[in-house]
Parts: sequence; structure tokens; C-alpha cells
Amino acid sequence: MKITIDKSACSGHARCAVAAPELFRLDDDGYALPFDGEVPEGLEAAAHDGERACPERAITVE
Ligand code: SF4
Repeated sequence: MKITIDKSACSGHARCAVAAPELFRLDDDGYALPFDGEVPEGLEAAAHDGERACPERAITVE
């Protein structure tokens, strides 16, 4: 499972990091940082929580 963050759509709401802080990190301005690699086992639901939390639909989990 992978997470893709569309930086051009991200508006820095930080809701992804609130919903799933173990997966989503923010830069100093509150914008989501790119996610590298695979979602660790057991965090699949958290990945979808972060995806749903983003009001800009900037997060894709596949
Ligand atoms: S919730 Fe969406 S818009 Fe907000 S920081 Fe996360 S990816 Fe960006």
C-alpha cells in the first residue's frame, strides 16, 4: 500500500497529521511532506483515515 500526496493540492490544513500522526508529517509551514515507501503493516486503516481527513483530496492511498 502506498500514499501519494499531491503537493499542488495540499493547502496545509494539517488534518492528515491529526488523523494519522504515525504516517503523515508536516513541514514547518504545515504542509504535508511526501510519503516514501510502503505503508507499514497494521497502519492501513490509519492511511485511509488520513486520506478521508484531507478536505483538498490531496492524498491518494492505493
Ligand atoms: S490534510 Fe490535506 S491539505 Fe491538509 S496538510 Fe494534509 S494533505 Fe495537505
